[in-house]
Amino acid sequence: MKYQGLTGKVILPGDPEYDRARKEYNLAVNKYPIAIVYCFNQHDVANAVVWSRMNKVPLRIRSGGHNYEGYSTGNGYLVIDTSCMNDIIVNTADNTTEVQAGTRLLPLYKRLSEYGYTFPGGTCPTVAISGLVLGGGIGLSTRLFGLTADSLLEAEMINADGDLLTANSNCNPDLFWALRGAGGGNFGVVTNYKFGLQKADKITLIQLRWDHNVLARNKFIGIWQDWLPNLDRRMSSFSGIYKRGAWMNAFFYGLPEEAREILGPILDIQGISQEVIEYVPFINAVERIGAIYAKRDAFQAPGRFVFCHFTKRQLDNLGTIMDRAPSETESSIRVYSLGGAVRDTGSEATAFPARNADYIMVITSSWEKKDEELLHRVWIKEGYDYIYQITEGSYVNFPYDRTPCCEEAYFLENLPRLQCIKQRYDPHNVFHFPQGIRLP
Ligand SMILES: Cc1cc2nc3c(=O)[nH]c(=O)nc-3n(C[C@H](O)[C@H](O)[C@H](O)COP(=O)(O)OP(=O)(O)OC[C@H]3O[C@@H](n4cnc5c(N)ncnc54)[C@H](O)[C@@H]3O)c2cc1C
Repeated sequence: MKYQGLTGKVILPGDPEYDRARKEYNLAVNKYPIAIVYCFNQHDVANAVVWSRMNKVPLRIRSGGHNYEGYSTGNGYLVIDTSCMNDIIVNTADNTTEVQAGTRLLPLYKRLSEYGYTFPGGTCPTVAISGLVLGGGIGLSTRLFGLTADSLLEAEMINADGDLLTANSNCNPDLFWALRGAGGGNFGVVTNYKFGLQKADKITLIQLRWDHNVLARNKFIGIWQDWLPNLDRRMSSFSGIYKRGAWMNAFFYGLPEEAREILGPILDIQGISQEVIEYVPFINAVERIGAIYAKRDAFQAPGRFVFCHFTKRQLDNLGTIMDRAPSETESSIRVYSLGGAVRDTGSEATAFPARNADYIMVITSSWEKKDEELLHRVWIKEGYDYIYQITEGSYVNFPYDRTPCCEEAYFLENLPRLQCIKQRYDPHNVFHFPQGIRLP
């Protein structure tokens, strides 16, 4: 195999760096690409796409490498990696930022906070902006400011011919629509983003836990689903239940006293074992939530949209799933709030399909030893099969390789339009992966 034509830093099997370079965030992913090319600019990306086509070596695109199912790599593929493209420019004159594709979330939050800006990104410090925004992007500011994709003003993308395209509301508006919710790995390699920004100073950080408290666990999702529909949009929450308890993390763009009032029904759940309700600079809140992700694991974590109110029986069934969990602490059912500003934008405004969902439900488990893997995967499968029946549609950023009819699941009624855009921008299906958008 000749690697002439590839520019940037090329890592091949046998290179001392290969083993580190081939790995993804999820330790359960174990693939052997034919080469990894670290790109430093759009030229390197274009060369990589052209090289892949000329040499008939299929490609995968990687930025932060956090895809749950490892769709940013593959055995025998060329991995086009943008993680070295991580410049951030802040334009205070028009409250915008220009961000390169491989930028990780914590450096982005930090840089923006130096200028007094918040950002509606996700919670994990090492997720890259690309996968996040191209799949929609949810976090603890979502109900106030919308999805990460809702702040996107423009993107630049290298297409299958190695040409640079700009996508915004005037230029390639169909591509711009598609990139905001369905852009990960489907149409080309996005290299640059421009976002609109909002100012924020201090916010209230909320971290509550009910440990060793199965009673609280059993009540939690019932109370959550009654509380969420009328929730003040200044509050967003990622919460969950595990075998022996429950927890809630949230941001509130307001003062702690008001947060306490809003949290009334949640704080009424008996037996709180940890209570943090603190007024802190936005960046401190981001860092404290980010500290949760200190350890990398092997895991699965499929996520589904919830549009309905569960019955008592359905809630009991979720409790039974938790009773059977393989791990005391590392298996959980999580709930991530939507609504608020997500719902303000119509379902057709971007490719993110589930604007009217109340929240996302995730079943997740992580393991350290290979011989535990099957147990965890079987529990996820059984739990998922139940959750699948009571939910509608899957969040593309929380993928699961066993999702039935995955294109329909990820994109719901937006799928036909996405397939037409796929035909227009990638007619030879150069950008494909197991759960990618297929040609019509
Ligand atoms: C610990 C953890 C916490 C998370 N927390 C959140 C959260 O709070 N909110 C949330 O919404 N999501 C969250 N996620 C999910 C995350 O948004 C997705 O995994 C996201 O796709 C990761 O992006 P990445 O660039 O890091 O990953 P990658 O694996 O590099 O890419 C993900 C997908 O996008 C494609 N892609 C990557 N770069 C590009 C590019 N430049 N152009 C075109 N396609 C590209 C890849 O081919 C792949 O299909 C979390 C994930 C993890 C592991």
